[in-house]
Amino acid sequence: MLTSPAPQRLASCLLAALLLVGNAFGQSPAPTWKAGVAKTVITPKETIWMAGFGSREKPSEGVRQDIYVRAAALQDADGKTAVIATLDLAGIEKEMADAIAERCGREFNLPRDRLVLNISHTHSGPVAGLVLMPLYDLTAQQREVVRKYTDDVIAKSVETIGQAIKALQPATVEFGQSLAGIAVNRRRATQRSLPGPVDHDVPVLAIRTPDKKLVAVLVGYAAHATALNDYLISNDWPGFALSEIEQRHPGVTALFLQGCGGDANPLPRRVEKLARMYGEILAFAVDEVLRGRMTPLTGSLRTTLETTEVPFHHVPTRAELDQRSHDANPFVRQHAKRLLEVLARDGKIAATYPYPVQVWQFGKELTFIALGGEVVVDYSLRLKARYGFDRTWVAGYSNDILAYIPSRRVLNEGGYEGGESMIYFGRPSRFGAAVEEIIVEKVNDLVEQTTDIQ
Ligand SMILES: [Zn+2]
Repeated sequence: MLTSPAPQRLASCLLAALLLVGNAFGQSPAPTWKAGVAKTVITPKETIWMAGFGSREKPSEGVRQDIYVRAAALQDADGKTAVIATLDLAGIEKEMADAIAERCGREFNLPRDRLVLNISHTHSGPVAGLVLMPLYDLTAQQREVVRKYTDDVIAKSVETIGQAIKALQPATVEFGQSLAGIAVNRRRATQRSLPGPVDHDVPVLAIRTPDKKLVAVLVGYAAHATALNDYLISNDWPGFALSEIEQRHPGVTALFLQGCGGDANPLPRRVEKLARMYGEILAFAVDEVLRGRMTPLTGSLRTTLETTEVPFHHVPTRAELDQRSHDANPFVRQHAKRLLEVLARDGKIAATYPYPVQVWQFGKELTFIALGGEVVVDYSLRLKARYGFDRTWVAGYSNDILAYIPSRRVLNEGGYEGGESMIYFGRPSRFGAAVEEIIVEKVNDLVEQTTDIQ
């Protein structure tokens, strides 16, 4: 009975042929995705302690630019929904991320592995949650302001993620990259004998409507948001980048994802003009990507998030902590007292930390890796070398800003990122030498687990 191709099959063959022709001319692909975006202001309404620098002596004195939580929801052709949410904060600890994720799971049926929470690491944002608490000397009243603000950010994050999911519309999603020379290896800036690698990639996801109207841009870059250090609330240079991108493309929502910028600073700095310039440079780099040929993401989305136990080099004994609790340095004293409290409460101090590694694969075209903590540059360079510099995006500062995450190189070199910074994060000691291998091995496992075998 079947002698000629069914009309639907013929139609889909024709469609496939047209798509091939379309792609050959660099046109956008047919919409196999749905996408939705939302953003909400999270600028604190009252004066509040500012995060990132321990040297500040008073709370905020005003607002330079509004700060936001932003969310981009993506749904693949199989109906699988995942969300990238970005917060203009210096940090987010596990407890705060879990609170947001747990409510998103309950209210929107969004599994934990399908939610990325990335922070810009602005050092001109308010203190929120518990990250770096040992760095700040807050009164009870200031702590209460932070507690209320944290609750507000959690509620607004959940709301914004819900709005992005609700806004899902047919869309195309494309990936491309540019380069921008904003980041300087800050360890080399102070110690000229060090090699000082940097990652200058500017990964971009462009979300467009089926008729090619740009709806959203997700852009990554690896450098601390520390161009400014005064008492005005802002999202530092990434905030200027986002407003510049949104001004150049009216109606578009832009999201910034911090990369493995643990040992990178924008230099020179400390002048608003420079922060604006870095923002403009990133916006120019984004436009370069948008003008060029981008890779349409066509496959299905595969997601996973797991933790791996990273060891501390040394767990201090009670006697060591007793001694340190009388140290001349107030940060060392505080740190020791806090660990003694943990010891009294739990009977032990954990020798490892459950480190979060998240991997999303967009078909065969893009591997997106989101790592916890202040990840140094060696991780992104190593992972991109392994999975392809042209098709891999490595975000740091995601899901739990537990500490700096040094590489073997940084641990060997010594210095702040792998060393004394651990005190400000309240960790028992520096990480053990195996930290890089353990994390990279976990990434490898998860990439394998999510690789489409077709
Ligand atoms: Zn930092």
